[in-house]
Amino acid sequence: MLELFFKKKNFYPNDYKKNVFDIDFVKLKNMGIENIFIDLDNTLISYDIHTADEKILLFFNNLHQLGFNVFIISNNKKDRVKLFADKVNSRYVYSAQKPFKSGFKRALKKIGYPNPKTVCLIGDQFMTDVLGGKRMGFYVIVVDAIKRKSEKWYTKFNRRLEKRILIRLRRTDREFFDRLNLHEKR
Ligand SMILES: [Mg+2]
Repeated sequence: MLELFFKKKNFYPNDYKKNVFDIDFVKLKNMGIENIFIDLDNTLISYDIHTADEKILLFFNNLHQLGFNVFIISNNKKDRVKLFADKVNSRYVYSAQKPFKSGFKRALKKIGYPNPKTVCLIGDQFMTDVLGGKRMGFYVIVVDAIKRKSEKWYTKFNRRLEKRILIRLRRTDREFFDRLNLHEKR
């Protein structure tokens, strides 16, 4: 199985929330986080939505007001990522190829390669966001997918691996699994 080829510690998110609105960004700021890298599809909007609504606009306004460097880091294509990022006034990386490091490095370069510990990565998938973020040494928050139904075949494949990862985490590190409430992860 694929996950066996990667280190187990790379599948331990630092936190789990139901959605991005449940994240306490003031607390993150006080922890020393200065940079927010956030996934697009199924973290901010579902695949069948193309732009930001009022709630998402306020969400990004808040991040900017708190003084974070914000990047949308997406494996999706330029057209979709740019359309959304422009609307919320955020910088972005498209075709990021998470969990590989290249996309993250494109963002880090633009902000002068800060200490990875000052970066918080937020995303909905273990195989791309959690694995990628932990490999970079970021603080990683995993959230529920907004809408699983419209996911493409490769994401469905990743979800099957994700399910195995969650089963393994529960079996091998129950204390961690329970502390983050990962039994609720959708
Ligand atoms: Mg996603």
